[in-house]
Formats: sequence, C-alpha cells, structure tokens
Amino acid sequence: MKMNVVVCTRPGQLDMIQRERPMRQPGEVLIRVRRVGMCGTDMHIYRGVQPFLEYPRVMGHEVSGEVAEVDEGAGLSPGDQVYVMPYMSCGTCIACAKGKTNCCTRIEVLGVHRDGALAEYITVPHRFVVKAEGIDLDAAAMIEFLAIGAHAVRRANITVGRKTLVVGAGPIGIAAAIFAKAAGGMVTAIDARQDRLDTCRDAVGVEHIVVAREEADAELSRLTDGDFYDVVIDATGSPAAIEAGFARVGHGGTYVLVSVVAADIRFSDPEFHKRETTLLASRNATAEDFETVVTAMRAGKVPLAALATHRATLTELAEALPRWMDPRERVIKALVEL
Ligand SMILES: [Zn+2]
Ligand SMILES: [Zn+2]
Repeated sequence: MKMNVVVCTRPGQLDMIQRERPMRQPGEVLIRVRRVGMCGTDMHIYRGVQPFLEYPRVMGHEVSGEVAEVDEGAGLSPGDQVYVMPYMSCGTCIACAKGKTNCCTRIEVLGVHRDGALAEYITVPHRFVVKAEGIDLDAAAMIEFLAIGAHAVRRANITVGRKTLVVGAGPIGIAAAIFAKAAGGMVTAIDARQDRLDTCRDAVGVEHIVVAREEADAELSRLTDGDFYDVVIDATGSPAAIEAGFARVGHGGTYVLVSVVAADIRFSDPEFHKRETTLLASRNATAEDFETVVTAMRAGKVPLAALATHRATLTELAEALPRWMDPRERVIKALVEL
C-alpha cells in the first residue's frame, strides 16, 4: 500500500512523494501519524547546516498519532493515541546503563539519523511509544521540545525561589522558563526579540523580561541586587552569548548549556573559580522528562494555545516551511496536521 511522504531531497527542497507503507516488524508499533511539530533541528536540516546528515531525509521527530498495528500484550491497542520518544537509544551502553538514555553513545534520532514522521505511517520500536492519556494530539506532538526544557531544569536542580535566567527565548528557552517556573524559580528571560519576551511574560508568567542589548547586564545586575543568578540556562545557539553567560552566574551558581554550537567556548578561569560555578551540559531528554511534561500539561501548567502558533497540512508544508523560518512570522511552534 502506498502513502504520502514529504522528503527533504536536498537542502532547500521538500518534495511530496509516494512510498510503500512501512511493514511493521515484531516489537514495533505501526503508527498513523496525526501531528508533527517542526523544530529548530528540522530548519537546520532544511537549510543544510545540520552536520553528518545524509539526504534525502524525511524530517520530523515531534510526533503524535494513533496506533494502527501493534503486538498483542504490548499494552497498546489499535486506535490508541500515542506520542513518540524520538531518541532511539541502545539500552546497553555506558550512558544507557546509568539511565542516561538521552546521551546514549549509539543514539539515533528519528527524523535526523533515520527517516522521521513527515509521512502518513511510521514504524517505531515499542519501547519508544507511549500512550498519550489526558492530553490531545496537538499537545502530544509538543512534548519533545518541552521535555528538553524540563531536562535542563532538572539538571539545574531549580528549587523554590531560585533566581533563574533563561538566555534565548525561542521554543527551548520558553520550555525551560515554563519548567523553571513550575519548579518555583524566579525567572528572568532575555532575548533580542520583543515578541518572544512578550510570550514569556504573558503566557509563561516569568517575573522579568530583558531585551538583549548593550545595557542588559546592568539591568540583570539591578534585578538581582548585584548578585546575578543562581541558575543561568543558555538556549541561544550563539557562541558569543554562551561566553557572555559565564559572568551572569552568581557565586555558587550553576550554568546549564542546552544549545549546542559548533565552536570552542572560552571563559576566564579565575572568574569561573571565584564563583565555584557548576557547569552542565544538557542534551535531549529522558522518559522521566517526557512524563514531567505530560503531568504539567494535564495540570494546565503549559500554555499550549500560545505555543502552537502555526499549522499546515502535509501538502502545504513545502510552501509553508520557508515562510515559517522568517522571524516576522513569529513562529513559536508550527504543527503539521495529517
Ligand atoms: Zn524538536
Ligand atoms: Zn546506549
């Protein structure tokens, strides 16, 4: 049986093609895809700036849908609404053995290292498919980027009253702000874009917003009585911003780098030591973080309507995606609906 698939044939080109519907193997779930969230990673693939990627590639790793076929006794039934944890970990390496499946040495990410969800049907190993209970298909397709923010907040161990600075208010920064707030943190968001800061203030309820400009550090100092922050979370994707962030960590504070940059990062060791800064990387998310997000969604703590700003069908995607990359479109999360 044939199905429609949108494939990134080469950088800058999306084509709707017909492919054979995938055959489900034992241990896999055949999913009828219903929503696919578009992510920074997809934009990088489309623009040809994602390293180590082979084209053609079917993008899409933020996915919800309905079970079409599944093994008996797998705890799922045809018609169940599900979401997918797209980080396909091996389960046996040094990281997986510690439960850190998010940084598995052999990790394969759906829609990056293997073909993703911009298709009518996909097959996924059963252990990466979770029943979406108490949330709708839109919400279920938005768990992944939120889980990245939840993971960063868990890494930072944010507790009640902790002064937290989120640098970069794109989708991941907004996600970090949501879960920092949920953990009881006092959150400041900083970004160059006023529209994103407005979302942080109006939809997320952060305490302070600061426009990234020359005087920003003076403002951050004033907001914290000169102490700066217990926790700084970088979600900028900018080497210069990451380097500047070290000085925004208060004494005894923690710096979490969520965004990855293809660069070496430099910092002043005396300044780093003076503060006894805790420096952490945060990569992907684990099943625990996905559950944290779903629990927060069920409790109404995630402003889903404010986040899902744009929408297109699979047929419209080739035309819509380049438009969504324009900052004037003010996309937070765009969903492809099937
Ligand atoms: Zn994503
Ligand atoms: Zn592993």
